[in-house]
Amino acid sequence: MPQKLAILGSTGSIGQQTLDICRKHKDQFTAEVLTAGSNADLLIEQAVEFQPDTVVIGNENLYENVKNALSSHPIKVFAGAKSIEEVAGYESVDTVVLAMVGFSGLLPAISAIKARRKVALANKEVLVVAGEHISKLSQEYKVPILPIDSEHSAIFQCLAGERLQDVDKIILTASGGPFRGYTKEQLKNVTLEQALAHPVWKMGSKITIDSATMMNKGFELIEARWLFNLPPEKIDILVHPQSIIHSMVQFVDGSIKAQLSKPDMRLPIIYALSYPQRIKADFQNSGMANIHELTFEKADTSTFGHLQMAYDVLKAGGSAPCVLNAANEIAVDAFLNHKIAFSDMEKLLDKSLSIFAGRKSAGIEDLLEIDKEVRVFCKKEI
Ligand code: NDP
Ligand code: MG
Repeated sequence: MPQKLAILGSTGSIGQQTLDICRKHKDQFTAEVLTAGSNADLLIEQAVEFQPDTVVIGNENLYENVKNALSSHPIKVFAGAKSIEEVAGYESVDTVVLAMVGFSGLLPAISAIKARRKVALANKEVLVVAGEHISKLSQEYKVPILPIDSEHSAIFQCLAGERLQDVDKIILTASGGPFRGYTKEQLKNVTLEQALAHPVWKMGSKITIDSATMMNKGFELIEARWLFNLPPEKIDILVHPQSIIHSMVQFVDGSIKAQLSKPDMRLPIIYALSYPQRIKADFQNSGMANIHELTFEKADTSTFGHLQMAYDVLKAGGSAPCVLNAANEIAVDAFLNHKIAFSDMEKLLDKSLSIFAGRKSAGIEDLLEIDKEVRVFCKKEI
């Protein structure tokens, strides 16, 4: 029987690549549930092709469009955030692929874990905002969280068959983004077009901007802390512009294991879905003989203030990572809409942290409230 997937965020970059895997491996994976935010046209197209049991459109204003377009198909149609949360816990689903972006994935993630569905996680902001809570929940409900993020997939692969106490440190690699080597002065004049031109990966617009500011690597540091239950001092970051080594693990005997492949997100996606097995796939690497250079440099936390802030909020704990994430979502959105300059994003994050980071947070309800307040504050500032 093929594994039944709920793909939350099926219209995004990760969602579409997951469906590409379903298309090529029909005997292994089938789409049971598809959800989107506002891209009704693509959701309809995907539903017609993959014939899932259920689709959900997040934007409730688009419900009629989707419902009418699919009226001749035996597909259930729902709308709204609450419905996404519900389908994340469907009994008929084997694996929930969390491919939504930002804070919006948090409640569906909790719903999937509580329903004891296997979780394949791309939506790293969930662990940034509520890593400790999600990590406890996954232990309590005995639900594995399988990483899709390429660096975390690499570490997960390197850790196979190893004991956590034998790990000296993990080394997250970073491409460095489009502004690698820039000075703070040069960053003042960069354009949206330049920021969107990632040298290696083609991804959704939010993570592409996060890569340009290095917020993405900062978030991955926090993601790694909770996925692998390692203290921050055991997580290093190294810039590796060729993006062939996706991350490494150094063991107590001094040995280092690395995972190498062509940069193609379908590889970590298929690994998360097929784990603990591997599936023969058509995106093989081009061979070691064709790799001429693997270089590494230190990450520049003084130029890329976002990265330093990620270290700081991880150390501070509590609500600080949630504040950083909320301010970042608003800042990136404003930059994408030409409302603020590239370097203004860092200022907004800084200001939000200085006001909100000390707020107490005892649980998810508090995080939801803090997220809301920070968004209101940032929108006013812009
Ligand atoms: P995209 O922006 O391409 O896709 C995001 C998806 O989430 C879309 O389907 C979008 O729907 C949906 N969505 C957005 N907001 C909401 C909402 N409020 N309610 C319901 N659905 C919503 O992002 P990516 O695929 O690039 O990234 C997804 C996640 O994976 C991110 O957390 C990212 O950091 C992570 N990731 C991505 C990688 C990549 O290569 N793309 C690599 C590693 C991690 P719609 O478009 O219909 O509005
Ligand atoms: Mg990554």
